Amino acid sequence: MISEGKMRSGLISVVKDLEEKGFLPGASGNMSVRLNKTTILITPRGTKKGKLKPSDLVEVSLGGRLLRGSKSPSTELEMHLAIYRHVLEARVVLHAHPPFATAFAVAGLPFDHLAPPEMIESLGRIPLVPYGRSSTKELSHQLVPYLKNQHAFILADHGAVVYGDNLDEAYCRMESLEFCAKVAFLGKLISG
Ligand SMILES: [Zn+2]
Repeated sequence: MISEGKMRSGLISVVKDLEEKGFLPGASGNMSVRLNKTTILITPRGTKKGKLKPSDLVEVSLGGRLLRGSKSPSTELEMHLAIYRHVLEARVVLHAHPPFATAFAVAGLPFDHLAPPEMIESLGRIPLVPYGRSSTKELSHQLVPYLKNQHAFILADHGAVVYGDNLDEAYCRMESLEFCAKVAFLGKLISG
């Protein structure tokens, strides 16, 4: 059983890694971890994520009630909660704007068929989730039908989201998703 302190510091360390990779431009992106059966910890809204401290994470019930924290939870709270409610094994959710994956998302083009098959085998298909307005329930409604058998998604006109059993798995999935998008883009470019 991992302590709450370790979960907080672990999530913040993943947030900093994503920031360093350039996946969280401005104050964008949001990340969460399942604390127990009924509550999660999520990043607060509007803050430059690389500057966050473990104590800045906000505790929220799966029903969306704020339980602990001096800041407001992320505006994408609903999307995170929808994943935890629908996928029992989801323990970590990461939403970011990695540039290549986001470019495909904005262009409305899936890219997994252009990525190395070996990567897609371990990552699974990467569906393009139809557009749902950011920070609304509409986005969660669009995402839910894709959740059962996939772990990594691009959100039309928006960015990328992954979930995993643990922090390392979720982080690797986000990193691999962006790698696949980059290879797909470069492959297309080279082959004309
Ligand atoms: Zn976003």
